[in-house]
Amino acid sequence: MSDNLSSIANTDTAEAKAKPLHFIQQIIRKDLEQGLHTKIITRFPPEPNGYLHIGHAKSICLNFGMAEEFGGACNLRFDDTNPEKENEEFVNSIMEDVKWLGFDWSGKVKYTSDYFDQLYDWAIHLIKNGLAFVCDLSAEQMREYRGTLIEAGKNSPYRDRTVDENLALFEKMRAGEFEEGACSLRAKIDMSSPNINLRDPIIYRIKKAHHHQTGDKWCIYPSYDFAHGQSDAIEGITHSICTLEFEDHKPLYDWFIQNLPVPAIPRQYEFARLNINYAVTSKRKLKQLVDEGYVDGWNDPRMPTISGMRRRGFTPSSLRNFCERIGVTRSDGVVDVGMLEFCVRDDLDKNAPRAMCVLRPLKVTLTNYPADKVEVLTVHNHPNRDDLGDRSIPFGQIVYIEQEDFREEANKKYKRLVLGKRVRLRGAYVIEADEAIKDTVGNIIEIRARIVEGTLGKDPEDGVKPKGVIHWVSAMQNLDCEVRLYDRLFKDETPDAGGKNFLDTLNPNNLEILHGCKAEVSLSKATVGNSFQFERQGYFCLDSKYSTPAKPVFNRTISLKDSFGKEEQE
Ligand code: ATP
Ligand code: MG
Repeated sequence: MSDNLSSIANTDTAEAKAKPLHFIQQIIRKDLEQGLHTKIITRFPPEPNGYLHIGHAKSICLNFGMAEEFGGACNLRFDDTNPEKENEEFVNSIMEDVKWLGFDWSGKVKYTSDYFDQLYDWAIHLIKNGLAFVCDLSAEQMREYRGTLIEAGKNSPYRDRTVDENLALFEKMRAGEFEEGACSLRAKIDMSSPNINLRDPIIYRIKKAHHHQTGDKWCIYPSYDFAHGQSDAIEGITHSICTLEFEDHKPLYDWFIQNLPVPAIPRQYEFARLNINYAVTSKRKLKQLVDEGYVDGWNDPRMPTISGMRRRGFTPSSLRNFCERIGVTRSDGVVDVGMLEFCVRDDLDKNAPRAMCVLRPLKVTLTNYPADKVEVLTVHNHPNRDDLGDRSIPFGQIVYIEQEDFREEANKKYKRLVLGKRVRLRGAYVIEADEAIKDTVGNIIEIRARIVEGTLGKDPEDGVKPKGVIHWVSAMQNLDCEVRLYDRLFKDETPDAGGKNFLDTLNPNNLEILHGCKAEVSLSKATVGNSFQFERQGYFCLDSKYSTPAKPVFNRTISLKDSFGKEEQE
């Protein structure tokens, strides 16, 4: 690392150290100081019913981050109580995403289904203590009996069944003797509680579904509320961190823990979920985009999924840095996607080697340069990272430049190639344009220009300095490739707010595919997972799905912050 960079890194750390502790850090620190725990254990509990998104990244960074910071452990536990919606593909993608973000779970991967026997026994424990009953109300009746926020509920007519009757019925439920929906097991709490979650919630329902982990062993499955806290207790989770919408479930979480012979007392803490503008972070909506073909799979580079962002070229450290910057609070809000983009640019600017690629090529013939001559030029891979080394690029009589980098005439603000004027080709010569050759309909198809002798790494001797620097690629030796430019998936800042149909706010121009782009030959060594700055165009990476050695496909991760202006003043 150069001096320059290490000083930046040091500032970063100093900044991180100076940052006040957020409320979860404060709670954990206090618990450790007061000896409530000697070691903390957290968990990340995804349901394997979709791919993880940027919101989950926040939860992952928080749960794994707390364990790292306080010398504890973090479990990965699949919350797999809805077999119809879950599958092994989702399980695998989630493990891959957590690892890619740079975290590792403690011990084996865990599943709520590992505890189905124990949970079943605890359901029986509640029945035996008169705290659960089998209810035959249909889903619709149950809604009627539940009451509303301002109106108490009514007791189920099945609430006073005897313990023996309940035990026998629950056993029949487990044995598959009832149809789905015929009955359910409910906790017996309080139908007049102001908290609807405490109005005799369902703890087991019949689902004759094959389960990705337990096969056909069960035809009854515990509810999320019944499974979650007890799983935390079994694993000795000290701090069960979840999003604010679970705040109203906490009394129920605690009720189960108090009424069951659990081996430990976990505590739930809630934080605000991450919402980001120009995106949706609901798995249901993301799934709809995939299933209905609006995007090309869960890892489409336009998706706010971790796998989509990975394919697009976002880096793990940029996502972790983003999660660090947004902080952890208890107030909901919407984070500007610009903050995420800033974190990605910041990381790639520091770490991505530079390369040149012409997206919309225009041929330039250098009339005073020998047709058979090839010079191999050496250029730095990064303007301030000597450790990234140098590379060679071939220079010859014909080069490609961007179509937009040439104008027949222009005002002074245009610092690129103009007829009769000069520009520097990055890392090569200053050239001067003489003539624009057009096709029969007037499109410019070729420029005839001259190199200004003696300008390789030097200013012109006649003192007429070029105003700008443009990128170029040799026409004789280059890598023909496809480039995909992405824009925001939605054109509306809040795609799903206020009763809008998020599908109506899709940005119709969210993908532009360019064919016949010309990249410098060194990019033939690019591999999936490496990022490059294509000079003046942004940050790019090979697409993991469509790229082949014969036909490389590059994704634009993100454009440069202030595209042209700044670069041209160099
Ligand atoms: P759904 O989209 O169906 O509501 P979910 O997003 O809650 O599901 P889970 O798999 O249950 O998905 O989430 C796993 C963990 O990630 C939970 O602890 C949840 O609170 C957390 N999480 C989910 N979305 C966000 C978000 N936007 N911001 C922060 N944490 C989140
Ligand atoms: Mg959930």
